[in-house]
Amino acid sequence: MASTSCKDNFMERIAYLGLGTMGSGMAANLLKAGYSLTVWNRSPEAGKALVEKGATQAETPAQAVQDADVIFYCLANDQVVEEVVFGQNGILSNVRLGQIAIDQSTVHPSTSQRQAAAYAEKQVEFLDAPVFGSKNESAAGGLWIVVGGKRAVFDRVQPMLNAMSESVHYMGDTGKGASMKLVGNSIVATQIEALGEALVLATKAGLNPKDVLDVLHRVDFRSPLFDGMGQTLIDRDFTPSFALKHLLKDANLIARFAQDLNAPTPAAVAVRETIKAAVNQGWGEENASAFIKMLELEADVTIAP
Ligand code: NAP
Repeated sequence: MASTSCKDNFMERIAYLGLGTMGSGMAANLLKAGYSLTVWNRSPEAGKALVEKGATQAETPAQAVQDADVIFYCLANDQVVEEVVFGQNGILSNVRLGQIAIDQSTVHPSTSQRQAAAYAEKQVEFLDAPVFGSKNESAAGGLWIVVGGKRAVFDRVQPMLNAMSESVHYMGDTGKGASMKLVGNSIVATQIEALGEALVLATKAGLNPKDVLDVLHRVDFRSPLFDGMGQTLIDRDFTPSFALKHLLKDANLIARFAQDLNAPTPAAVAVRETIKAAVNQGWGEENASAFIKMLELEADVTIAP
């Protein structure tokens, strides 16, 4: 985590809305960095731990943003962003000149564009700033953040983004952060598929998956995702740090995004079908890695040592 001084941050007031797996960690790190924090979450119990550490909890999005200089949110999907931003008692109903709104949810770039236009009418600046990393990186302030919007606005809030991340990347104007996030997650989905296919094939071939992972940790095509997720597959641990239902949401966003741009994504299309089938099996609340269970079903094997 990049260092920030509590003294310097003392006067900055931040609102954080959406305290799920990702938002709760990012909000906690802003508080730790010394910012004055107001939080809101649909299910209020999620705010309790932050209130105990000094945050104030608001009852509505409108109330949360009332006194904020900068408004962050990390919400489930485009529809939820739509409700929380544009809905009754939503963020837009109570913003004012000079504030900055930052959407950290993974959404379609057009959702970022629509928000930026609506905020601009109220003279509020907007950045799309989705994140790479998962539950552990969020809690540890070790995310990788990709940002779209005006460069000057990015520069103004960079210390806040530093407080929750290992690195921050300015990608260009509005929607470019959201675009980069979809580009990255198309690789995440295909990497999980590649790992699942490889381990199913290895199991069929009578290889011990532990030995396979030992090789995958060292070879020239190793990947941190293979390292982390490989062991959880062998352990049959599908506890969500990134829920499969959110990966399906992202796969659907990637499909729409690629279609709009006429970009070929044949592997992503195939992987989306497997993810969809796994959600239809009722595994949407499990970790994203749970979709490899579809491959196991097809192969009639279980990846186990
Ligand atoms: P999560 O744990 O499921 O949290 C979702 C958040 O959205 C919660 O605050 C939830 O409130 C809120 N929400 C859901 N439906 C709502 C509604 N109808 N009205 C108001 N609030 C609602 O998800 P997450 O893992 O933190 O992910 C949040 C975003 O970050 C998603 O866009 C996801 O794709 C993205 N992301 C996730 C990861 C990851 O590894 N988890 C990594 C990068 C990006 P409640 O608590 O009341 O349900």
